[in-house]
Amino acid sequence: MWRTESKAGRGDGVQCSVFGIQWSVVDSRYSVTYGAGMEISSVLPPDYHCHTLLCKHAEGRPVEYARAARDCGLTEMACTEHNPAPEPFDPEHRMDLDEFARYREWVSEAQALDGIRVLFGIEADYYEGCEAFLGKWLPEQDFDYVLGSIHYTRYERDNGHRLTGVFDANDVEGSWARYFALVRELAATGLYDVSAHFDLPKRFGPLPKPDVMESLVKPTLDALAQADMGLEINTSGFTHDVNEQYPSLTILRWANERGIPISFGSDAHRPERMGGDFERAVQLAIEAGYTERAEYRKRVRTMRSLTATPDLAKESAE
Ligand SMILES: [Zn+2]
Ligand SMILES: [Zn+2]
Repeated sequence: MWRTESKAGRGDGVQCSVFGIQWSVVDSRYSVTYGAGMEISSVLPPDYHCHTLLCKHAEGRPVEYARAARDCGLTEMACTEHNPAPEPFDPEHRMDLDEFARYREWVSEAQALDGIRVLFGIEADYYEGCEAFLGKWLPEQDFDYVLGSIHYTRYERDNGHRLTGVFDANDVEGSWARYFALVRELAATGLYDVSAHFDLPKRFGPLPKPDVMESLVKPTLDALAQADMGLEINTSGFTHDVNEQYPSLTILRWANERGIPISFGSDAHRPERMGGDFERAVQLAIEAGYTERAEYRKRVRTMRSLTATPDLAKESAE
């Protein structure tokens, strides 16, 4: 559904101009005004990335995230807690295997809320050898959406013999090269729907030179396209020192050139971050040339207009 209406200037909204395109946000709806005065307004896209207290570094339960999402005007979201994994993989940052049933129950509790559609998802780390577990476990669950993530470039055993992630920010080019090699391996497994926070290493240290970055990123985007994977615009970077979304606008443009679909995620680790900075993210997607975003049900992707208004009532009746 397309809507053309002028809400700019009403209420206590925000108005901005980015690269000559006017945009405004009023009552959780964004409006974009192009040069000729055409204005498009819609609700924000679904937030497909948030966590729970089960991962030991986030707060709250899915129902709290769902309420917060609904309160800020979102009509759809996905819970994507860090996946359980066999010991000894990084137990400090994920739920335990025997907590997964509780996670499923909590997501069901959120799905019972009116006014917001809640998808059952997971953020699954790729690491060397993970297919032995994930290859069997992921398809056995009734997930709507599986994010694939790399958080570290190598793992070390600590004193308790747990595998803990390490990111070596001193070796800039080496670390970025290892990171993107892992993203390509992740894509090649065919286990994931979407690549999360694609250029995350910029959080931990400097970027490589632009030509090196390009030589690493483009083949990695090709691997995502080959695997028919989507790409997440992750707004958590606006809360980090890097102060921009993952990935950069340049990478979003290259992704769009390859026909890689996008979805949006706040990566909320507390409920009040749901939908955070989504207006900026939508604007960036439009600047990168995107007109559509991806929506998921039971791991099947449907493309929607970036400015479409979801019709909750109609879909509930199906
Ligand atoms: Zn986390
Ligand atoms: Zn992550």
